Amino acid sequence: MSLAEAIDHFAAGAPVLVGDERNGTIFVALAADAVAGDDLDTLQSAGRGMVVLGLADEIAQRLQLAAPGQDTRARLPLALSTPIDAAVGISGGWSLRDRALTMRVAADPGTVPSDLAIPGHVHAARIDEHGPDAAAAAMELARLAYRAPAVALCAVVDRTGAAASLRVARGDRSLAQLPLAAGGELHSHAIARRAAEHAVACELPTRHGGFRAVGYDPAGREPATVALVHGDPAQAQRPLVHVHVACLFGDAFGSLLCDCRAQLDAAVATIVAEGTGVFVYAKPERSAPARCARHERIDAALTAGLLRACGVGPLRLSRRSEEVAEQLRSCGLDVDGGGPG
Ligand SMILES: [Zn+2]
Repeated sequence: MSLAEAIDHFAAGAPVLVGDERNGTIFVALAADAVAGDDLDTLQSAGRGMVVLGLADEIAQRLQLAAPGQDTRARLPLALSTPIDAAVGISGGWSLRDRALTMRVAADPGTVPSDLAIPGHVHAARIDEHGPDAAAAAMELARLAYRAPAVALCAVVDRTGAAASLRVARGDRSLAQLPLAAGGELHSHAIARRAAEHAVACELPTRHGGFRAVGYDPAGREPATVALVHGDPAQAQRPLVHVHVACLFGDAFGSLLCDCRAQLDAAVATIVAEGTGVFVYAKPERSAPARCARHERIDAALTAGLLRACGVGPLRLSRRSEEVAEQLRSCGLDVDGGGPG
């Protein structure tokens, strides 16, 4: 099932399984802005784990929920706030009906801090949407579905109570029927959305031809991943894309121990000869400046997100960067191999 179908399910108020093989916790996620008590029952029966209300930072701030990191004993990737209740309309707070009402109140953009009673019965968590985890992916699912960035999340646990991997979750009969929204694909959409606003771009003439250089780093701390865009990839049918893994000695110093520099030059020249294409200068996940980095893993979600932000849809990957084809496909890109260069 495609991400588009998962988004449709989520938008219609149905539960969706969110995560991928790299996520330690997989969630069943449900839009919180219209959740009912029986929806929470479905959610809890499917996931079996703890149910929390994931909130975007802007909602947690508006509701003045405790910021993460205030307690130095905190170890959870989900920063739980003090549990909340709706201030009006609940009886006791424990029932699924009451907890669903509290979630709807928290998700409502008109809610102010006095609409909540603290401590209550719903665990709210401020989600770091820049994170690589499945909770951040679920928030992006809500945004893509045009629902409030407030999501009821139930961690998936196996029959022993341990956090279930995606493989185990998909092996469960009831969970296998839920649409799956892959974490990497959702992260690439989140990166594309933010890069469209925050990427830095300039015209870059090179000896091979003219490019638009687009630089973006989601964490804002490290050297940016850069895409060199030639022509208009949005108008091209399967534009040529070359993903170059940054290799300091090869690229900058012309090391003869590898041919990264020659590959870089050849790829840029080939894209110019084609008329349209994108050259991505991708950071390796492990930094090892003293040796060639060509075979290191890259942040596929970041690369895919930057490509999306540059207007790339279905693409042709250059022959020499085919090593990353599967990584980009796992982020939902339609990748054809076998391009020149
Ligand atoms: Zn190299």
